[in-house]
Amino acid sequence: MSMTFSGQVALVTGAANGIGRATAQAFAAEGLKVVVSDVDAAGGEGTVQLIRDAGGDATFIRCNVTVDAEVKALVEGTVAAYGRLDYAFNNAGIEIEKGKLAEGSEAEFDAIMGVNVKGVWLCMKYQIPQMLAQGSAGAIVNTASVAGLGAAPKMSIYAASKHAVIGLTKSAAVEYAKKKIRVNAVCPAVIDTDMFRRAYEADPKKGEFAAAMHPVGRIGKVEEIAGAVLYLCSDAAGFTTGHSLAVDGGATAI
Ligand code: NAD
Repeated sequence: MSMTFSGQVALVTGAANGIGRATAQAFAAEGLKVVVSDVDAAGGEGTVQLIRDAGGDATFIRCNVTVDAEVKALVEGTVAAYGRLDYAFNNAGIEIEKGKLAEGSEAEFDAIMGVNVKGVWLCMKYQIPQMLAQGSAGAIVNTASVAGLGAAPKMSIYAASKHAVIGLTKSAAVEYAKKKIRVNAVCPAVIDTDMFRRAYEADPKKGEFAAAMHPVGRIGKVEEIAGAVLYLCSDAAGFTTGHSLAVDGGATAI
């Protein structure tokens, strides 16, 4: 079965870079119109340029996902640009802790929860009414993490935030199941992005450790997360909702 999409317009947050950029490119390669969103305007415009260079259709809308009015404007801007919203990939996230739980600060807690949890909640809060107003099927994928499925030593706040993403995902999925809106989460293990490089590259031993924690013996590629997101949005996943899909080289199977 090939991946087919009944909708035409996708919105991706955190799309200036890494997993979000690759997923925006993948949606565009399938012929969807894509709204690329991020706080990083230069990076977001760069993603749009890559999509246009490949013959796709994309528009950048800057949005800080922690700000209610900006998220509302993002969904309104998507509809103004392309007339509708069929798929949303709520992917913007941060990881800033470096120590054990008792070494964390209130500022770190608020920042991580703000982007990773409030951001996903705000996005769905404005995306779902738009999808309901359209009356057609819609699909949302939120980026959690394997840190949303189990412990993440020295990243306890991040782990709590990603567990919360899964709670939001499951609850929204059940609330809107009969309205034809599917809501799933993708749970990457270590993926080769700037986020990974910030956390691991300073210490080559950590890089080796990162590869070894995956039974496949390597870290993941952004395209491998994009593929999972597109599958969850596609008609092939029509009976899948409230699911948290680990894309982790077998890491959570151990
Ligand atoms: P990245 O740092 O390359 O990309 C994250 C993007 O989010 C950046 O472009 C950044 O500007 C944007 N962003 C940050 N705060 C924002 C805000 N307030 N509003 C809007 N945009 C904001 O990282 P990535 O690895 O591509 O991460 C994408 C997602 O994947 C994150 O949610 C992250 O937690 C998750 N994740 C990453 C990994 C990994 O190993 N890379 C593993 C599991 C989960």
